[in-house]
Amino acid sequence: MIDIRSFSYEELVEFITSNNEPTFRAKQIYSWLHKGISSFDDMKNIPKSLISFLKETCTLSCAECVKRQVSKLDGTRKYLLKFNDGNCVEAVFMKYNHGNTVCISTQVGCRMGCVFCASTKNGLIRNLLPSEMLAELFAIIHDTGEKISNIVLMGTGEPLDNYDNVIKFLRLVNDEEGLNIGMRHISLSTCGLCDKIERLAKENLPVTLSVSLHAPTDSARDLIMPINRAYGVRRLINTCKNYFNATSRRISFEYTMIDGQTDTLQQAKDLAVLLKDFPCHVNLIPLNKISEGVLVPSSNQAITAFKEYLEKKGITVTVRRSLGADIDAACGQLRRNYISK
Ligand code: SAH
Repeated sequence: MIDIRSFSYEELVEFITSNNEPTFRAKQIYSWLHKGISSFDDMKNIPKSLISFLKETCTLSCAECVKRQVSKLDGTRKYLLKFNDGNCVEAVFMKYNHGNTVCISTQVGCRMGCVFCASTKNGLIRNLLPSEMLAELFAIIHDTGEKISNIVLMGTGEPLDNYDNVIKFLRLVNDEEGLNIGMRHISLSTCGLCDKIERLAKENLPVTLSVSLHAPTDSARDLIMPINRAYGVRRLINTCKNYFNATSRRISFEYTMIDGQTDTLQQAKDLAVLLKDFPCHVNLIPLNKISEGVLVPSSNQAITAFKEYLEKKGITVTVRRSLGADIDAACGQLRRNYISK
């Protein structure tokens, strides 16, 4: 079966016309697909015979909302979404001043093994298709009735470990005839797969790259992120500098504040040396505790001291504002609770 919503417009034209249908039918079908229809029967201006043909040859990836938590504080909505094969992922809708933002997953599970992260505890189940990443957005657009202006690839999964599907998704979601979301309104977060960052630099896609750094030295990073044994801190920072030089896009470093592991003053000093003269942004994230984790979030005092030290050294730094505090469960917890039931 053909995964029709993953087709680019050109691929769809090729598919439709090679079945002796005119090009304008492809245009109509593409438009329906990117309005987020969940059944071929919803394509109102398409002849019955063509709809039957599509049903016989194609699948339509959809995401069904199986659980939803709505914050009473700020309207943040956290979703558990189920795909056609029964696998689930999480996605989050957030209202910011700069526009509505959706955080989507790129894989079912993850194989990166970061010790503080709930999404990786059961390993990788499978990659998501481009159509399934789109389906996450359509499910949320239908549920909220709102427009989406920003996307962050920060849900479950390592986007660069599902490289081809993620790149295809980015091009589809950016398409003027589709959701038309600007590349500059999309952030891709990675734990630091250097060879893939190098590839991304050549794609001519001006997305914002967020790099999950979390520690300034190999000794500390090795302990919490297994990927560091493949690409150490020095290689990672050099790769980031090359990315910046190639794209002129400022990199954002995510830095989780873990008590005694990543938040010491010595580590603030090491980080300042590491990022000296590199135009970038550091985002400090207070650790979200996960149920079986032994790691402890940093105190507010430690976070403030760390932040002030970096600022004194001229580094742009923010502390992540937590939305949806009343529905908060650390990243990946909603799905894990669901699987374990
Ligand atoms: N695989 C990608 C994107 C998914 S995780 C990456 O590693 O960047 C999105 C962000 O949440 C990452 O910065 C990740 O390190 C962080 N994160 C995961 N678990 C967390 C936790 N328990 N507390 C705080 N941040 C966490």
